[in-house]
Amino acid sequence: MKPPITGKTLVAGVAGQPIAHSLSPLIHNAWLAAAGIDGVYVAFAPDADRFEVFIDGLRGGAVRGLNVTIPFKEVALSIADIVSERAQKAAAANLLTFEPDGRVTADNTDGVGLLGALAAQAPGFEPSAGPIAVLGAGGAARGAVAALLSAGAPQVRIINRTLAKAEAVAGAVGDGAVACPLNAAGDAFAGVTAVINATSAGLSGQAGLDVPLEATPETAVVMDMVYKPLETAFLAEAKRLGRPTVDGLEMLIRQAAPSFEAFYGAVAPTNVDVRALALEALGQ
Ligand code: NAP
Repeated sequence: MKPPITGKTLVAGVAGQPIAHSLSPLIHNAWLAAAGIDGVYVAFAPDADRFEVFIDGLRGGAVRGLNVTIPFKEVALSIADIVSERAQKAAAANLLTFEPDGRVTADNTDGVGLLGALAAQAPGFEPSAGPIAVLGAGGAARGAVAALLSAGAPQVRIINRTLAKAEAVAGAVGDGAVACPLNAAGDAFAGVTAVINATSAGLSGQAGLDVPLEATPETAVVMDMVYKPLETAFLAEAKRLGRPTVDGLEMLIRQAAPSFEAFYGAVAPTNVDVRALALEALGQ
């Protein structure tokens, strides 16, 4: 049973454009109810060109914090007054918290979500065991590359359709990252311990990436950040080849947990199965 909204209700939320499809309200409100916290988590869809005004309006303390998603992750970082090291490394923020003095702190929990999902669904996987391939060079890919290097990956191969973007990410994250063109993905897959799709290809049934997953070692873990559908064509192909797989929903839930703690000052409860609720919402 959800506690009633009172004069002390803690408010947090997520901002994106579009946002109606977001599973974050479902996840956070289920945790709030399970923990018996007098709080609420709502979705906001600010105008794409008025995000800064929207954030300024919250500096008065109306909400505890916000998760930030497409297309606001980069601008969220740029307008923050305090930036965590992991948000700086990812060059994007997915979590803003509002300080009592009106300052905004930016953080990024996508790396925690990525590593948590790998640990949960591919328990034998060790980031430091060998080179890892990341497909994509957008905000999600950069965060993933930074988190994997921080976790000890000896090399991350950034494979992208637009090579210049992969080169820019490799240059920004420093030693250990190399850029590869998408049409040479087969070469870049040689000897990897994992392949992570951080492109938006495959989203909502769009055509997936045409890459030769059979060029990966048989033990390579294959992960897709896309979770709609839960089993993308990319993951279906990996399963057909017998590769262990990790899905994007697990990452979404695991990046949400540290945000919950930042907003409501409590650890996300384990006595509610938010994955089952999210799967139901996804129609699985
Ligand atoms: P983004 O900044 O827009 O980057 C999109 C990337 O996808 C670019 O590298 C782009 O390549 C590539 N791309 C798009 N369509 C492609 C296609 N048809 N063929 C080849 N490459 C294609 O997006 P983002 O913020 O990084 O997010 C990427 C995905 O990760 C999204 O689907 C997002 O929902 C997901 N995500 C999931 C989680 C989670 O918790 N599960 C967290 C963060 C993000 P070019 O550079 O060549 O355009």
